[in-house]
Amino acid sequence: MKFGGTSMAGTERIRRVAGIVKRQQEAGHEVAVVVSAMAGETDRLVNFCREANALYDPAEYDVVVASGEQVTSGLLALTLQALGCKARSWLGWQVPIKTDDAHAKARIEEIDAEALIASMASGEIAVIPGFQGVSPEGRVTTLGRGGSDTSAVAVAAAVKADRCDIYTDVDGVYTTDPRIVAKAKKLPLVTYEEMLELASVGSKVLQTRSVSLAMKEKVRVQVLSSFIDENAPAADTLPGTMIVSDEELEGSDMERQLITGIAADKNEAKVTLTRIADRPGAVASIFGPLAEANINVDMIIQNIAKDKGETDVTFTVPQADLVRAQALLEERKEAIGYFRMIAEGNVAKISVVGVGMRSHAGVASTMFRALADRGINIQAISTSEIKVSVLIDADETELAVRVLHTAYELDAAA
Ligand code: ADP
Ligand code: ASP
Ligand code: MG
Repeated sequence: MKFGGTSMAGTERIRRVAGIVKRQQEAGHEVAVVVSAMAGETDRLVNFCREANALYDPAEYDVVVASGEQVTSGLLALTLQALGCKARSWLGWQVPIKTDDAHAKARIEEIDAEALIASMASGEIAVIPGFQGVSPEGRVTTLGRGGSDTSAVAVAAAVKADRCDIYTDVDGVYTTDPRIVAKAKKLPLVTYEEMLELASVGSKVLQTRSVSLAMKEKVRVQVLSSFIDENAPAADTLPGTMIVSDEELEGSDMERQLITGIAADKNEAKVTLTRIADRPGAVASIFGPLAEANINVDMIIQNIAKDKGETDVTFTVPQADLVRAQALLEERKEAIGYFRMIAEGNVAKISVVGVGMRSHAGVASTMFRALADRGINIQAISTSEIKVSVLIDADETELAVRVLHTAYELDAAA
């Protein structure tokens, strides 16, 4: 069971979580619980690091930000004990959850779950702080923002759990963020592949890595709310969203929609280099250095001006890397041979995702028409087999998501 930050924010909520955990144990299950820091705590700690040293050492950053989860894991163990349960906390290095040494964005390499399994078998509830691990040198690492989801799936895989229940502040995965579109519909089932794509284009309900790990390790993941009415009669449908394989979805009676969901991501920035020579190697001279600096480029467009032998190149990078990207390209202005660099941070990427688009034409044109009808300008486009993304002005994000939600007939009946 994994509980997110909102579920862990304060004594009362932790008591509620402890109640949910206790009921699972009483139902005869062995339980490991992964917890997030209290809502807002990780942001607060990240800010302290920035204030202390703008160019902070990621290893020390990890020492600071991992503390949020240490607090909530201890508090949940204490609360469970107060309810009469046997419980103990297991910090990342105690389990151990072994990661690589990429501080602030470490990857889990191996979980040695023997001690954890023995403790669970003895009737003790294992409480594990999410987000953290230990590097080969024995230092604390963290898994990137939202990483507790990945901790939970990794622990579930390591103890060969029957299920990994991700409790959050919404009661499942919706066709789009239910906080933006009130008419969003809850999806009872969603495939790993669709969830992976939705997460990677900005649906923060699950961290992308947690979904790819669940897919690889075949972990049964369920997303549900920790704010349920504990006394409500048991429903015959699942209370949340189950992430399933393609075969399971085909075998269910759920009708497959053309579009599964819509996501928005405001964390990208757009860069345009104008009047680049239209010759072999020009584009390589831009993206080579960015790749070497570990800056991920997402959307790319190049316009060829046939008569002039010049071209403009536009691309997006993570907002957080924009300053570094600009500095790199400025340094290489001569070598690349562009005229002007224009950077723009106020953009949003809106994506529609659905496996159904593999066998259907017209998905992209519906998107372009719906946006055009509302006067929303498209600045860049990218597609994959099961996704179409467009870049627009960030101020139009919510309007665009609503308009597309209606255009693809995803709105719930009023
Ligand atoms: P936690 O703290 O539990 O990890 P997060 O804030 O990381 O929770 O993720 C839950 C949030 O994800 C929801 O509050 C919701 O606003 C947002 N969200 C974005 N897209 C979706 C979606 N398609 N379905 C459900 N929630 C979504
Ligand atoms: N507390 C961490 C964060 O906010 C990890 C998590 O909650 O998933 O990114
Ligand atoms: Mg989260």
